[in-house]
Order: sequence, then structure tokens, then C-alpha cells
Amino acid sequence: IEMQKTALVTGGSRGIGAACARRFAQDGYRVVINYCRSAGPARQLAGELGASVIQADVADPVQVEKMFDAAGEPDVLVCCAGVAWQGLLQEMNPVQWRRLFAVNVDGVFYCCRQAIPAMVRRKSGSIVTVSSMWGQVGASCEAAYSASKAAVIGLTKALAKELGPSGVRVNCVSPGVIDTDMNRMHSAETMDALREETPLGTIGAPEDVAQAAAFLASDRARFITGQILGVNGGFVI
Ligand code: NAP
Repeated sequence: IEMQKTALVTGGSRGIGAACARRFAQDGYRVVINYCRSAGPARQLAGELGASVIQADVADPVQVEKMFDAAGEPDVLVCCAGVAWQGLLQEMNPVQWRRLFAVNVDGVFYCCRQAIPAMVRRKSGSIVTVSSMWGQVGASCEAAYSASKAAVIGLTKALAKELGPSGVRVNCVSPGVIDTDMNRMHSAETMDALREETPLGTIGAPEDVAQAAAFLASDRARFITGQILGVNGGFVI
């Protein structure tokens, strides 16, 4: 009998992270859902999945350390917590820039540094980061967001090289346009335009990204590390 594995999903209260929590639970993992502000949705999902739930702002290293103390030693870490910022770069102030990077980049660092020691000791484990197709090709009016997601790709590739010899894999899912709260600010016209630009002719569902993350985390991907898997309907090829 195989031991039940634990998956910690940051930003698991809503959107893609919530779909990942659901997917990993369905795949037989013990799931730990991290959230920052959405206590209600996080608790409801946890109840539904029999998962545990831990509040922590991933941008705060002290809160992240406490989260890992409470979570035990996850076999799988999915770094899904993320925020967006839209507007012209010159209209972004330094506080906004710092917060975006604190969540999207520092947060991945803080979680990885807590997760890695136990994974290396056990010589097994898998980290899945979440970038964006805009981190690959850049988006107008999302320069800072694109830069933060490009940083996630660089971190993923370097960490895969660093941890490969220790038997730990690090991969990245890079979503295209996915139907979550993050895209609610777009007008219907913008969403139609994005749909039209997508070769598969539709926007994605959070579950589409969760399937890719679950594959990369699993032993089915045991020879795959350092990869950036686009889940974008062909928008970026
Ligand atoms: P979403 O619906 O806005 O959900 C964001 C999630 O991140 C929420 O669970 C939120 O938790 C959590 N979060 C935000 N700041 C946090 C913090 N400081 N600490 C801990 N958790 C935090 O967004 P989504 O669309 O699911 O996006 C998930 C990831 O996919 C992000 O990294 C995003 O950049 C990426 N992505 C999304 C798309 C897309 O089209 N939707 C495309 C490419 C990439 P609380 O609500 O509890 O605060």
C-alpha cells in the first residue's frame, strides 16, 4: 500500500488554485489549501474535499514558515497564489510594483525554501509553479505582471537544475486566458476578442490548468523537469 501523499496548494481558495485542490483530492492526495483573504470559500472547499486549510499571505516569510509548520512536509507544492495589475507601466507606483512582485515572485521563493529541505531529505517531491503566457511573450498594460511571471519561469528552470540531482522535480504550468475572477475586469468585447485569437476558439477552465498541474506533479511525469507547459488553447505556441 502506497502512503497517501500531501499536496499544498497556495492560493487554493478560488480560481485555478481551487481547481487544483479539487483535482489533487480526486487523485487521492491529502490536500492543504492555503488562502489569504477568502476564508469562506477556502473553508467551504476544504469541507467538501476533506482538506485542511491554512491562512497565510505568501508575501510574508514569517507567515509562510508558520504555514509549513502546520502543513507538515508536503510531497507536492503547487504555487498558485498570484495577483494581477493592469495599466500603463508609468502609472504604476513603487508600492504597487513591490506588492505584485512580493506575491507573485517572493511568495514562490518563500514557499519553495520551506518545502525543499524535506523533499531533498526524502529524495522525492515535486514543485509546480504557475506562470502565465504573458510571462512568455509579454502583455501590453501588464508589463509588471509579465515580468513577475517571467521571473517564475526563470526560477523554475534554475531550480529544476539545482534539485534534479536530489530527485526533486520542478515544473511550471503557464495558463492562457482562464475563466476566473482574475479576468472579470475584462469587458465582454475583450473576452470575445481573446476567444477569437485562441486557435481552439474558447477560453480555458480552471480544471484545464489543474489537469496539467496534476500530471506534472505525478509520477507519470517522473522524467519531466524544468518544463513550462502552456495551457492556453494554442494562443502562444
Ligand atoms: P484568482 O481567481 O484571482 O485567485 C487568486 C488566488 O490567489 C486566490 O485563491 C487568492 O486567495 C490567492 N492569493 C492572492 N494573493 C495571495 C497571497 N498574498 N497569499 C496567498 N494567496 C493569495 O486568480 P486565478 O485566475 O485563479 O489565478 C491563479 C494563478 O494563475 C495566478 O498566479 C495567476 O497569475 C495565474 N494565471 C491566471 C490566468 C487566468 O487567465 N485566470 C492566466 C495565467 C496565469 P484569497 O482570495 O484567499 O486572497
